[in-house]
Amino acid sequence: MIPLATTQSVLAAGAACVAAYFVAPSLSCKAFSRSVWRQTGRPGKLLLTFDDGPDPRYTPALLDLLGEWGVPACFFVVGENAAACPDLIRRMTAEGHEVGIHSYRHENARFRRPSFAGADLEQSLAALRELGAEPRYYRPPWGNCNPFTLYEARARGLETVLWSVMAQDWERGATPRRTAQRLLGRVGSSSIICLHDRSMGKSADDTAPGRTIQALRLALPALQRAGFTFILPEEMAR
Ligand SMILES: [Zn+2]
Repeated sequence: MIPLATTQSVLAAGAACVAAYFVAPSLSCKAFSRSVWRQTGRPGKLLLTFDDGPDPRYTPALLDLLGEWGVPACFFVVGENAAACPDLIRRMTAEGHEVGIHSYRHENARFRRPSFAGADLEQSLAALRELGAEPRYYRPPWGNCNPFTLYEARARGLETVLWSVMAQDWERGATPRRTAQRLLGRVGSSSIICLHDRSMGKSADDTAPGRTIQALRLALPALQRAGFTFILPEEMAR
């Protein structure tokens, strides 16, 4: 018979391994790692970011709006979506926006093998370089990492950027006014704002990015009237 103490030790060791691989890296990325950007570090300066795109149905109108208001943004694009919309990646770059990496297929690194992080970044970098972009920033989908994600990003010269403000703009009930209210209520002095120009994942509403653009028509002038300005990631400060 195996002693009870031994069984408990084995279970505890197993739980520790699960936590070390599946829980700790994402927690560190989202809350503790000092190498991850979650604020711009510059009072009154906001970073506007869009995940999951590009989407030919929504991204052109979003770029029109940002141009209208003179607002730069960082697009964390999904590699396969970018490869399907090369002109939109070229337009982002030509109009002064930053193009960052949001994985190649929007997979959750937390549940993937150790080698996934490096392979995914390589595939994403190759796809975006093919389109003339030179990514410098990375945002893992859902902010989830495995133990190698941050190391693999740094090894390729990529800085990891998460967020401090979300507005749940992907939800079915996210009306433009509601999303704008959430944004205006949550933005702080040096927030990094995360919105979406494409719907990815089961819980996302396919038509939501259209309402996100309408929400920005309400929120951008209000934020500018309140004295906020928008910067690119390269202008952030520790
Ligand atoms: Zn995403």
